[in-house]
Amino acid sequence: MEKIPTQQVDTKPQKVVVNLYAKSERIYVRAYKGIYRNLRNYMAWVLLLIYYVTPWLTWDDRQAILFDLPARQFHILSLTFWPQDFALLSGLLILFTFILFFVTVFAGRAWCGYACFQTVWTYFFMWAEEFAEGSRNARTKLDKQSMSVTKFRKKFVKHTLWSAISVATAITFVGYFTPITDLLNKFSTFEFGPWESWWLLFFTVATYLNSGYMREQVCKYMCPYARFQSVMFDPNTLIITYDEARGEPRGKGSRKQSTSDDLGDCVDCNVCVAVCPVGIDIRDGLQYECISCAACIDGCNEVMERLGKPKGLVRYATENVLEGQSYHLLRSRFIGYGLAVLVISAFIGAQLLTRVPIEVDLIRDRQTLFHDLGDGVIENTYHLKVSNKSQETITISVALNDVVDYKYIGQQRLLIAPNATIEQMLRIQIHTDNLISPKTDITFDVKSINDKSIRMEQESRFLAPAEQVL
Ligand code: SF4
Ligand code: SF4
Repeated sequence: MEKIPTQQVDTKPQKVVVNLYAKSERIYVRAYKGIYRNLRNYMAWVLLLIYYVTPWLTWDDRQAILFDLPARQFHILSLTFWPQDFALLSGLLILFTFILFFVTVFAGRAWCGYACFQTVWTYFFMWAEEFAEGSRNARTKLDKQSMSVTKFRKKFVKHTLWSAISVATAITFVGYFTPITDLLNKFSTFEFGPWESWWLLFFTVATYLNSGYMREQVCKYMCPYARFQSVMFDPNTLIITYDEARGEPRGKGSRKQSTSDDLGDCVDCNVCVAVCPVGIDIRDGLQYECISCAACIDGCNEVMERLGKPKGLVRYATENVLEGQSYHLLRSRFIGYGLAVLVISAFIGAQLLTRVPIEVDLIRDRQTLFHDLGDGVIENTYHLKVSNKSQETITISVALNDVVDYKYIGQQRLLIAPNATIEQMLRIQIHTDNLISPKTDITFDVKSINDKSIRMEQESRFLAPAEQVL
């Protein structure tokens, strides 16, 4: 009987060498036109304008947005947040996070593609690069050339522009934490303090390197959002996709040829790859590197238009739509994140509306429980601290609630300047006839004498010798 040859299967594990430290190739992004490019450009200019102009706005004779760390006060328009408002600031951060999740469930990584600082500044730097060195082909050629006067001039212009943007970005950023007019005055004389010098240097270098050189590396390897974004995606999330059914089999050639050859609409021109700022091929499917900038949509639409084919070979679509199923906007994840945004917004709004612009801190003197002044009079000492978180001077009065007869030794009316804190030691004397217990709960009533809505109560205790009260 003839022996049937058996196929030899190599069961040994194959050795695959991955060089984790391989030098990444520089990406030369090709210029293109299109609706999403325009949208991103408008968005970028608006965001850049907001970023650079905001520290120059004033409110009540002070910088409108100022995070004054030495004074531990955050000024945002008419509001001043103190360390005691930390919960409110945390709430704001949580709200932004949920808004990001909400947008991601609906539109994928729209934040990354249109509004992230890294994307906005990278495109800003790419604009400067193209202005100085020319188109993609010209830049590729220039980098291969040996140094010449022309190359030096072009590189000099590019690096000067990059440096100017980086310095302006750093000054503006530090200007959110130090009054920007003071900062610029110091800039002319180079009289910065150590912290200002450090942060100016840090942000100048970080902007220059991140936006000039590292670019997509930041998104790929440093940004945690790229890693967990897929958790928020579902089959109805808008993603940028290549229509494989329409595009394949891809092949080089004109419209006429592709029809006769039974080829798909993709002419394998690689434009979608050439315009991609992270250097990936969208035809390989959704990849975590994709920042949803839609450059490949614009690039491919240009090609389709030239070939007289319908646009949208690369387009925004959902997994469900690509599989011929219907699109559902209202699904549990979308509703859940939306509700979370509404609830947190309502909570923060309520906190802001009911926020009292004074902060009261009252502590009993722990050194001495009480002083027996004789004739049944007992004295307790307290440390009172009142902060004025508003932009106006407030006059407050301090009194005791629920105690009929007492003597207050200390200033009962206090004038507090805007954003200032005053402290005082005060003494309360009460006759034992007016006490029902050696540990009597008392309430300090701290209120503005001009504005009834500004009022806070602080609970404490009045201690007396048990043998005199019982
Ligand atoms: S694949 Fe397309 S959307 Fe994704 S990063 Fe590249 S160009 Fe932008
Ligand atoms: S730009 Fe469009 S046609 Fe050209 S390779 Fe990409 S998908 Fe194919």
